[in-house]
Amino acid sequence: MANPTTECIQPAPCGATSWETQLADAVRDEGELRRLLALPPRRAATAERFGVLVPRSLLGRIHPGDANDPVLRQFLPCDQEYARAPRFTPDPLGECSARVGPCLLAKYPGRSLIVTTGVCGVHCRFCFRRHFPYLTADAEAKALDQALAQVAGDPSTHEVILSGGDPLTLADTDLATIAERLAKIGHLRRLRVHSRLPIVIPARVTDELIAWLRGTRLTPIMVVHINHPAEIDSAVAAALGRLVDAGVPVLSQTVLLAGVNDRVEALAALFERLVDLRVMPYYLHQLDRVAGAAHFEVAEAEGRRLIAALGARLPGYAVPRYVRETPDAPSKVVLA
Ligand SMILES: *Cc1c(COP(=O)(O)O)cnc(C)c1O
Ligand code: SF4
Repeated sequence: MANPTTECIQPAPCGATSWETQLADAVRDEGELRRLLALPPRRAATAERFGVLVPRSLLGRIHPGDANDPVLRQFLPCDQEYARAPRFTPDPLGECSARVGPCLLAKYPGRSLIVTTGVCGVHCRFCFRRHFPYLTADAEAKALDQALAQVAGDPSTHEVILSGGDPLTLADTDLATIAERLAKIGHLRRLRVHSRLPIVIPARVTDELIAWLRGTRLTPIMVVHINHPAEIDSAVAAALGRLVDAGVPVLSQTVLLAGVNDRVEALAALFERLVDLRVMPYYLHQLDRVAGAAHFEVAEAEGRRLIAALGARLPGYAVPRYVRETPDAPSKVVLA
């Protein structure tokens, strides 16, 4: 029989900490983040509306002492966020006008996007929804009822996209209920989930998550958001493997970001690694011009050059479509 005393005092191995605990325990203070990564404090640091949020499991994928680390640069506030950039606005995609309900975006034919929550597993400084008017938790539940009714009332909708924020910050019991309610809508065929959590907190890929994704009549599709090969450690590789092994098609989307992944070597390494993990690169996004993110912009001509260079070295299926979101087009605009 195992000795109960030793069992109790043994600390849980890092990978065994639940994703909920990891999210609750994430770093939420810029000063702490800088201390943990051996970086000097930032003089101009202010209380941010869009505050710091970095799960501790990500810290092991960042080089301490390097403020230009390509993973950290995505999450560390910097003074450039306050630089004047008149063409960068709070709602660059005109999403407020694509809102057909408090949490429903019907921008493209056949697909409806539900903003399930404003909560994320990490705060990306370039996020195009950093100024999005998210609802309070109470209003969210009502808005969801309304969104489901609207989807049910539109027979042209074949696919629902759960987005956010990050939909996988919701509990699996809640998500399973949403999936069940969606499956009852006869004209729906597919259920797509857009999330960054399998990358930033790989423990999020639980058996329960796989159970509701696999258990629904709808064809599930997972789109993971990832920007740099250093975001993939062994736990992330294993989490993506669990999804693919379960038969869930997994695609990736990446934002082209200056100082993060605007070199052909970084992009080639990312897409090749993803393909090796059976994740198909789907989109490379041109940065949306959201206020505070101008320092991340890469010129479109440079993006096209990068895609051409990738095409010259990778199999065709490993090169994502380079796209830009525009307020009025019937689809994302393919740049290369
Ligand atoms: C990107 C996006 C979609 C999905 O577009 P796909 O090209 O099918 O990936 C749907 N709705 C909105 C509002 C979007 O921004
Ligand atoms: S996880 Fe997605 S929605 Fe959340 S801050 Fe990052 S880019 Fe924005």
